[in-house]
Amino acid sequence: MTINRSRFQPVLPGSTIGVLGSGQLGRMFAIAARRMGYRVHTLSPDEDTPTGQVADVEINAGYNDLDAVRKFASAVSVVTFEFENVPAATAAAAAEYAPVRPSGHILHIAQHRLREKTFLSEAGLPVTRFRAIRSRSDLTLAASELGLPAILKTADFGYDGKGQFHLTSPSDFENAWQNVGAREAVLEAFVDFDLEISIVAARTHSGEFAHYGAVENHHRNRILDLSIAPGRVCPKIASEAVEIARAVLEKLEVVGVLCVEFFVCKDGRLLINELAPRPHNSGHFTFDANLTSQFEQQLRAVCGLGLGDTKQFTPAAMANLLGDVWADGEPDWAAAASIPDVKLHLYGKVTPRPGRKMGHLTALAATPEQALADVERARHLVSAPRLAVS
Ligand code: AMP
Repeated sequence: MTINRSRFQPVLPGSTIGVLGSGQLGRMFAIAARRMGYRVHTLSPDEDTPTGQVADVEINAGYNDLDAVRKFASAVSVVTFEFENVPAATAAAAAEYAPVRPSGHILHIAQHRLREKTFLSEAGLPVTRFRAIRSRSDLTLAASELGLPAILKTADFGYDGKGQFHLTSPSDFENAWQNVGAREAVLEAFVDFDLEISIVAARTHSGEFAHYGAVENHHRNRILDLSIAPGRVCPKIASEAVEIARAVLEKLEVVGVLCVEFFVCKDGRLLINELAPRPHNSGHFTFDANLTSQFEQQLRAVCGLGLGDTKQFTPAAMANLLGDVWADGEPDWAAAASIPDVKLHLYGKVTPRPGRKMGHLTALAATPEQALADVERARHLVSAPRLAVS
């Protein structure tokens, strides 16, 4: 893919940006964009969305409604996305009217595990051992090659551990194959990792690159639970991860933000778990802790402006607030507000459901350990059942 630099005109404040998708990532992007004087239009199949509540215009249309997508794109100067499972035809229809950044080509790769892992391994980048599974017999063969335990994942539409099945013995195969819908999947060797880290990075059309260092991530039920920045990983591994992320953004010619998630193996080797071609949950702390947040960085990159300084003011930790926190009723927001170094973010979602990302807390402190302790304490305080008032 070649970039025609002469045609790359900056999109300046006052212009309108289109966001495909309408979740919390789009909401925080819209907040950053509106702060800099841009207007924001969002398109998704939903109404009263986290992004729509903050955007200037919320368009309620399916991603397959290509006429609506073309109309949406014709009213904006650049289209970006906050949700990578937008069909390729949607990105192509939008691109008839406005530049789409990152490009539809990147979406196409990152929304399909098999394409993504094949791209990474062909590019010589370290990726978890995997096999393409297209039939039940492929599964038996691949499991004998990779060994057990292993994880069977749907090739498309997977995130937060959705569509994943843990295989520990051949008796699990049939069930897992039926559960992925007997369709294209990926079998991955189970990685007995030491730690999970991510690198959130940005790249402009001219090749300028910036990153937020290695963030340490802890998952619960395969959903991100806690992020700690800087991650408690040795500097050599952190800088190696940054160089791998740089190579990914270069090879994909990303214009925008992309997150690379890694497993740090017990022997110190890094393996890429997956890519997200947009701001990422593990970069939410940058909203409060860094000179330029990942959302402003996405804005700057897709608008053809220079990247901002990623300087982090203090160590930070982020704790997700899933719908589970609502189990005993409305959480105690006053408790969160009573801790001065903790910032509360809620995404405007009306219905809490277990596992649904409703918001997050970020704590800033002198050390990563203190930030982690503070954010966990804050989450405990908001979710602890309140004493009944007599
Ligand atoms: P994913 O949606 O593929 O990022 O998976 C969600 C989480 O499941 C990861 O962050 C890991 O904690 C875990 N996981 C996924 N794949 C593997 C693997 N091959 N080996 C060990 N754990 C994994």
